Amino acid sequence: MSDSAAPERAIVIGAGLGGLASAMRLGAKGYAVTVIDRLDRPGGRGSSITQGGHRFDLGPTIVTVPQGLRDLWAACGRDFDSDVTLKPMDPFYEIRWPDGAHFTARQDDAAMEAEITRLSPGDLPGYRKFLDDAEDRYWFGYENLGRRAMHELWELIKVLPRFAWLRADRSVYAHAARRVRDPRLRFALSFHPLFIGGDPFRVTSMYILVSHLEKAFGVHYAMGGVQAIATAMANVIRDQGGHVKMGVEVDEILVENGRASGVRLIGGETLHADLVVSNADAGHTYTRLLRNRPRRRWTNAKLDRARWSMGLFVWYFGTRGTRGMWADVGHHTILVGPRYQAHIRDIFINGHLAEDMSLYVHRPSVTDPSVAPEGDDTFYVLSPVPHLGHDNGVDWAEQAEPYRQKMLAMLEERLLPGLAARVSESLVFTPEDFRDRYLSPLGAGFSIEPRILQSAWFRPHNISEELPGLYLAGAGTHPGAGLPGVIGTAEVLGTLVPDAAPVAPMKMAAE
Ligand SMILES: Cc1cc2nc3c(=O)[nH]c(=O)nc-3n(C[C@H](O)[C@H](O)[C@H](O)COP(=O)(O)OP(=O)(O)OC[C@H]3O[C@@H](n4cnc5c(N)ncnc54)[C@H](O)[C@@H]3O)c2cc1C
Repeated sequence: MSDSAAPERAIVIGAGLGGLASAMRLGAKGYAVTVIDRLDRPGGRGSSITQGGHRFDLGPTIVTVPQGLRDLWAACGRDFDSDVTLKPMDPFYEIRWPDGAHFTARQDDAAMEAEITRLSPGDLPGYRKFLDDAEDRYWFGYENLGRRAMHELWELIKVLPRFAWLRADRSVYAHAARRVRDPRLRFALSFHPLFIGGDPFRVTSMYILVSHLEKAFGVHYAMGGVQAIATAMANVIRDQGGHVKMGVEVDEILVENGRASGVRLIGGETLHADLVVSNADAGHTYTRLLRNRPRRRWTNAKLDRARWSMGLFVWYFGTRGTRGMWADVGHHTILVGPRYQAHIRDIFINGHLAEDMSLYVHRPSVTDPSVAPEGDDTFYVLSPVPHLGHDNGVDWAEQAEPYRQKMLAMLEERLLPGLAARVSESLVFTPEDFRDRYLSPLGAGFSIEPRILQSAWFRPHNISEELPGLYLAGAGTHPGAGLPGVIGTAEVLGTLVPDAAPVAPMKMAAE
């Protein structure tokens, strides 16, 4: 491209964390960037809703691999730690079983080994091996595969022997079960894929690398919630000269001369650009935003056949005058239900809303006073449920309130006695809210499930297979969901998009 007086323009559809990170990378490459999102504040699933003095951080709560964020800021000539305060968590989280058994996860090796020994002394050697396995998979899966583009089939073929050697065909649970015998430890070492929408009994064992991420880099909380990260990203984009337009929805990606040339908004306005990045879900990007263009790979039929991550039922609530109560309940608690494998099967395979549930309980007010009025607590409690695409779909209009009541009863009985009388604010998200708020196909929590045949080259590519000039970032593309994943999608995207052509200096009148 030749020098011109105006910078090349890029449009990013979606201000999710992957979209914002992409916009930062493009800004650093010299593009004039405009980010467009239909919500009222940036962050996508990482945005927040404020209600009755409580800030409900809607999605991600656990920040792992802060280096990914630091690298992103550095690529823009900025210092992440000057813009966002991360607080290391100690402990990371507590797991509680119905029989009263509990397990506290920490970064400290000796403390972790003491916990393993307390629950099952014979499993200590297996646990150590599991951690070694996790580190091997980290170097290969995260540092090698996760940080480079995987759109060439050859890139996949080259690594197949290593996949085979690492038994990537085995599931996360199967790998944990080979190393430890105690069912509670098998749970503690295998539930992590649920945080990125994967079925632990079917997702590739490459994902045990998460245990290494936690151990090596810690678990952090962003003061101000992940919303604070998203807001800081939007500020960097504006400082780079870019624009973040909220409350605006893209209706279609425009094509001119066989290339992405901009977007048409709902309402008809068109915006032109030299390249377009979609951070909307990959399914939405192809079935809706490119609906008028023939597609070779990501046809509606192929996307219908894909396996999607589970849905989420999330109850956000505030409690009045409880800051001194429930002293043993920390920032992150996992309340395990009576069944593991059969329950996961109900969620992912049978599509059946089970009577029992396993809960993740988030209580940020123990760390961050900004989330609640003084003396009060802010919580969210999350239960994995089937997405909306199963034949015997759940009728959420009917089921949401009874399900919330069941959740409340479980919390009262096992974690937060006296809760019902203390609830002051309440907000529920079902998979239908994920569908309607984030335009997430089937209301899935984390886009396409990270199974082996839906990962790396098999996932929608960061450089679109369907349209030159279109790029994809976010959970539905490579390397995948989760904060480190979507920040990684922008890193990969940065390797694929050329630098913007230099802008020619304006000619002075006297010249
Ligand atoms: C409840 C929950 C808890 C989680 N917990 C964690 C955690 O603790 N740690 C972790 O690392 N990860 C966690 N995750 C996963 C992580 O939050 C997501 O994978 C990640 O935030 C997704 O980012 P994304 O870039 O794919 O964009 P998304 O967040 O999906 O955002 C996409 C944006 O695009 C916008 N959009 C879509 N279509 C259009 C359109 N046509 N026009 C305009 N805008 C459009 C949407 O409004 C949305 O804002 C959690 C997720 C959820 C839901």
